[in-house]
Amino acid sequence: LGPTITAGEILVEIMSTSVGTGFLEPLTLLGPFPSGAPAIFIDQVARLGSAAGIISAVGSDDFGRLNIERLKRDGADVSAIEVLSDAPTGSAFVRYRPDGARDFVFNIARSASGQIRMTGAAKALVSRAGHVHVMGSAFAIPGIAEILAEAVASVRSRGGTVSFDPNIRKELVAGQGEARRRLEDILSVTDLLLPSGEELAIAAGLEDEEAAVHELLSRGISEIVLKRGALGSSWYRPGERIDCPAFVVDELDPTGAGDCFGATYVTCRRQGRSPAQSLRYANAAGARTVTKQGPMEGVSTFAELDEFIEANGSKA
Ligand code: ATP
Repeated sequence: LGPTITAGEILVEIMSTSVGTGFLEPLTLLGPFPSGAPAIFIDQVARLGSAAGIISAVGSDDFGRLNIERLKRDGADVSAIEVLSDAPTGSAFVRYRPDGARDFVFNIARSASGQIRMTGAAKALVSRAGHVHVMGSAFAIPGIAEILAEAVASVRSRGGTVSFDPNIRKELVAGQGEARRRLEDILSVTDLLLPSGEELAIAAGLEDEEAAVHELLSRGISEIVLKRGALGSSWYRPGERIDCPAFVVDELDPTGAGDCFGATYVTCRRQGRSPAQSLRYANAAGARTVTKQGPMEGVSTFAELDEFIEANGSKA
């Protein structure tokens, strides 16, 4: 199996230790934590012992080193992460509101992650890859759509596969028209779609879940895995559906759950596990993530997932 790859932002996350609205007063902060949805995804694939690499850029600073060291330690291929001397590593400041919603201050567009290029090392990684995972959050980066399109075309030409997590965050969507066009382009080459409920409705242009799933499967997507947060997940293929209840855990920090869930599902399927078994592992990975503070701190090995499943059992 060629490596699973993605392209997109690497940053640090710094979180407020107090719940509240926004950053309009001095706060006690916790971090930096390695972050960026594509980086979390790739780190989780690597922790499962599967080949994984990311096309990205960081600054020549401690925030960049922190990320590269973590990815390397967990076994990810960091050869296509460019270290830039003229731009800092990106950052995201996060504060949770009492209702669980999050306020963000992003510094990504003018950071190193805003300047990701298809370098020689990136081309080499693409030429080895067997699967591309596309994350919606990355589309805020200029030129990333072209890099992902090149990676997708290359991998598909060798019989590889494509997964897509729309990961639509309204703060990161540049313009509605442009965002829509990109969404349609990527949906047309997606084998496995991993949306949340709202993203499913946006992708299909239909509110009703079954109708939206039907519409997207009829376009040639092979599998849809719907993420339902604390309610678990559902899997769809034409004429088939599996619901997998969530594991019951105390949620400490939900950031990264969707990325670890997706990485685990993709890896399990690529390794030949059944949809039901893959869904259960992915639910366990998502549940473990929310019990850990910091977006990349909850990544799991298979041994940790087996132990967690054994210890917790699921709701059903
Ligand atoms: P994010 O963008 O915050 O990473 P997401 O919307 O992509 O999240 P979620 O649905 O929040 O993804 O989480 C992915 C999966 O993780 C869920 O389908 C579920 O299996 C697991 N999960 C998430 N939150 C919880 C929770 N509170 N308890 C148990 N499992 C959870």
